[in-house]
Amino acid sequence: MPEKVIIIGAGITGLSTGCYLQMNGFETEIHEMHSLPGGLCTSWKREGYTIDGCIHWLVGSRPGNSLYDAWNELVNMKEINFYNHEIYYLAEDDKGNCIRFYNNIDKLEKELLSKAPEDKAVIMDYITSARKFSRMKMPLGKPMELFTIADAFEALVKMGPYFGRLRKWSKVSIVDFAARFKNPFLRKTMENLFVPEMGVVFAMITTAWMNNNMAGYPIGGSLEFSRLIEQRYLELGGKIHYNSRIKEIATTESGGKTSAIGIVTASGETFNAACVVSAADGHSTLFELLGGRYIDPKTADFYNTQLTFPSFLLLSLGVDRIIESESSSLIFPLTKPVYIDPSTTITDFNIRIHSYDPTLAPEGKTLLEAMIPTRETDYWCNLRNNDLKEYKAEKERIIREVTAGMEWRLGNIDAHLEMKDLSTPASVVRYTNNWKGSFEGWIMTPKIGFSQLPMKFPGLNNFYMAGHWVNPGGGLPVALMTGRGVAGLICRQSGKKFRTVHF
Ligand SMILES: Cc1cc2nc3c(=O)[nH]c(=O)nc-3n(C[C@H](O)[C@H](O)[C@H](O)COP(=O)(O)OP(=O)(O)OC[C@H]3O[C@@H](n4cnc5c(N)ncnc54)[C@H](O)[C@@H]3O)c2cc1C
Repeated sequence: MPEKVIIIGAGITGLSTGCYLQMNGFETEIHEMHSLPGGLCTSWKREGYTIDGCIHWLVGSRPGNSLYDAWNELVNMKEINFYNHEIYYLAEDDKGNCIRFYNNIDKLEKELLSKAPEDKAVIMDYITSARKFSRMKMPLGKPMELFTIADAFEALVKMGPYFGRLRKWSKVSIVDFAARFKNPFLRKTMENLFVPEMGVVFAMITTAWMNNNMAGYPIGGSLEFSRLIEQRYLELGGKIHYNSRIKEIATTESGGKTSAIGIVTASGETFNAACVVSAADGHSTLFELLGGRYIDPKTADFYNTQLTFPSFLLLSLGVDRIIESESSSLIFPLTKPVYIDPSTTITDFNIRIHSYDPTLAPEGKTLLEAMIPTRETDYWCNLRNNDLKEYKAEKERIIREVTAGMEWRLGNIDAHLEMKDLSTPASVVRYTNNWKGSFEGWIMTPKIGFSQLPMKFPGLNNFYMAGHWVNPGGGLPVALMTGRGVAGLICRQSGKKFRTVHF
């Protein structure tokens, strides 16, 4: 009989873990609290439109790198049609100025130097590093526990020439880097790149990936992508229990050691296994399912002091006309500031015009989406729980005010609006259970840089954690790599040689 492993969560981490364990002869089953696969990597239907709730870019979308090869173990990459944007975003101000943040580094250099020649030195810091990183061939991430001398040698050979630059720019946040620009419009454009508290090195690396066309968007959207991995997992013999929320990880004591032996669902059912992996939210796994009993000092320090990626509202509008735009991603000022919640008022609007994916809107129509970051998760959850009527009214108000504020730029939206939807941090918590409604786990701030958290915890055997709560920076590649990594660790514990099967 193969050893049985239970996995909590059918996000990309849980599905990847399941696929790799099935490839290695384990019997696995996933318990997922939602009725769908994908977790944060999801989409939903509204009145003929498909709202895409996740993927802006998938790193590893192009052959010739270790991530592509790993994705190709889970999905047939040749069958996915990836779209590469020419412009990362087009920033506009109210005086008619614009900055095109091109994905091509040569074009970006020309554009930034022409718009802000007074900032040549800082622009060239960004450009030179992005250009250098575009030649970097990163080895696939591995848990430290599996790192061999050969891996260390490979990392040294591949990454050695970049160590100095990676270190230098991981110590500077995006917002501090932006502050070096004299040109106020370029400073603001830079601040809006990703998340301001993140090390600027990650923005540079992303520009490098974009330049190399290796971070494309999969046509069909996020749920479609998750479904492909779900299908792979089921074909490999895995089993998924949907609508199965886990409330406890069962343990046993023997010979002075504590080991995980299974899970207990919210409805009181018990499932036993030789090993349990949590690919679900980190905070609730450690502090609720395991009662806060097994935690190492580094992980405890993260939960006490480190910054998570914010939560967000996702505004989606279906417009029954074509909207032409030079860039699918636009940032422009609203006519009036819009109050979102007690600590969020927006003056500018960052919108995605989804015309590059024809599967998301009916022919001749356009899906517009805007992600509005916020840290007011408790406010939104309390409002929804305590006053549903007011919660709905607030959502209506935000949609109305934002739509009115962008008419001047996109023209005639209100008259053509046939679908409107606003998800809030309360939706993120309800559907994915992520701590504070975070969209990607821990931010790689200058303080934590490239550090990782352990996947195993002191005093508890046969239990592992994977996903964006153990690997700061998060994102889909982290889900894949930690799922692959945890499967490797379990193979080692069982004395098996880790193997993979690719398309
Ligand atoms: C708007 C948005 C845009 C993004 N854009 C990108 C992008 O362009 N590129 C990129 O790489 N990444 C992007 N990300 C980040 C990426 O989606 C996540 O980092 C990744 O999907 C995390 O996967 P995961 O499986 O680790 O976690 P999750 O997706 O959170 O999955 C965890 C799963 O566990 C389930 N679960 C939780 N608690 C329990 C429980 N007690 N019992 C049972 N099940 C439970 C949840 O329902 C969920 O399905 C984006 C995220 C968002 C929200």
